[in-house]
Amino acid sequence: MMKAIRYGWALALVVALAAPAAAQGAGEGFGVAPYVAVNAPVVALTHVRLVDGTGSPARADQTVIVRRGFIVAVGPSASTRVPRGARVLNLEGHTVIPGLVGLHEHTYLGGLRRTVPMGASAYLYLAFGVTTAMTAGSQLPDQEVALKHDIDTGRMPGPRLLIGGPYIRAGTVRTGPFRGVDSPGEARRFVEEWAERGATWFKVMSGPRDVLRWVLDAAHARGLHVSGHLCAVSFTKAAEMGIDALQHGFITNSEYVPGAQPDVCPPGNQVAQADVDVASPAVQASIRRIVARGTPVVSTLGVYETFVPGRARLDPRAMEMLAPDVRREVEANHAGLATSGYTVPERLLTRMMRWERDFVAAGGLLGAGADPWGTGFLPGFGDLRNYELLVEAGFRPEQAIQVLTLNGARILGEDGRIGSVEVGKRADLVVIRGDPIATPSQIYEVITVFRDGMGYDSARLREAARGKVGAY
Ligand SMILES: [Zn+2]
Repeated sequence: MMKAIRYGWALALVVALAAPAAAQGAGEGFGVAPYVAVNAPVVALTHVRLVDGTGSPARADQTVIVRRGFIVAVGPSASTRVPRGARVLNLEGHTVIPGLVGLHEHTYLGGLRRTVPMGASAYLYLAFGVTTAMTAGSQLPDQEVALKHDIDTGRMPGPRLLIGGPYIRAGTVRTGPFRGVDSPGEARRFVEEWAERGATWFKVMSGPRDVLRWVLDAAHARGLHVSGHLCAVSFTKAAEMGIDALQHGFITNSEYVPGAQPDVCPPGNQVAQADVDVASPAVQASIRRIVARGTPVVSTLGVYETFVPGRARLDPRAMEMLAPDVRREVEANHAGLATSGYTVPERLLTRMMRWERDFVAAGGLLGAGADPWGTGFLPGFGDLRNYELLVEAGFRPEQAIQVLTLNGARILGEDGRIGSVEVGKRADLVVIRGDPIATPSQIYEVITVFRDGMGYDSARLREAARGKVGAY
């Protein structure tokens, strides 16, 4: 469809005249107007339960005033004046949280026989409140650039996309989704090429310290950032080197594996990891060292849960979104999980939760991302599943919301503009039916999502993605 959109744009008139059916197909998702439920210069969201993203307790009966895309007033409904002419939404019985800032998002679906594009992920991210999405590498990087362009130019609704381009590894491969870097010059060339194409957060997928060093130097020289899915380089080492975010948390930090050597990803890393004692002095000391460097960590509990046999369940609401052939494959993946050769023991997931709680308790900055995957873990749904898991991990619900919102904005360096419901910030707001603080599973009851003050109808966005995820 990305291709169809580009051709459709250039040849809209010709296509419309020659082939009405094709024009309708190409036109689907065209423009944001069909998805907008609220569009007024001044909007008042009245009588809401407000969870403002700062971690402070939910406040009952609040009013939020939005003017031209920005939050201009927040306070008790009794004392907050609603400007004359405002579009008033009486939202009694609803909860408002800030727009989510996802830090490990994808616009393709991996883990299938072939990697499929997920142009429709733009609808799902926005439908479930993700207003800012940093992708953590792409196996279909050209398609991702096109998707970002389509969102940025208003051809389709979606989150603000921060992209990273192809994954970076050690080696000499210069094409495809996994690019090899083997010298400082090659790191500069890669960063140069992808910065030109709009990448701002590069993703180091593997490799020894020198690869990470070269990429960090090249990116930082341009004021750009690097996150890593590491194994051969330990978290504490990467933190000392100045990495901007550590993806996935505990599970990928090989330094806890007995006998781990520098620059080598220990074989069977995650199996060994499952028996590491998080409370041990060595692990606690490493947490303190990462915190001392101020290096953020991105939690991706939800995707790992999908690899825990017996625990993970396919969400039927999510499965409906998949294109039929992709759905069949995802269901087969799920059914065959126990014998698939890659599973996560439940006790490892529990240790990941413990590690993240200890990291935050020690003063660490924790954000979150979905990491959609062919095990049935989808954009939007996955970001919200993380909320339930963070609560299960022992975070207060308001603290879990903070991880998903303001902490993400801080990690991106955007917390002056987004991430919380505070005066002066962009009006990125998620309206949820019910009370997800009291009942976490109600977090999925999103009805309207504001991005820059424009209110999108969540149901219409989901409808646009239904049966299409993985089709284009
Ligand atoms: Zn990923």
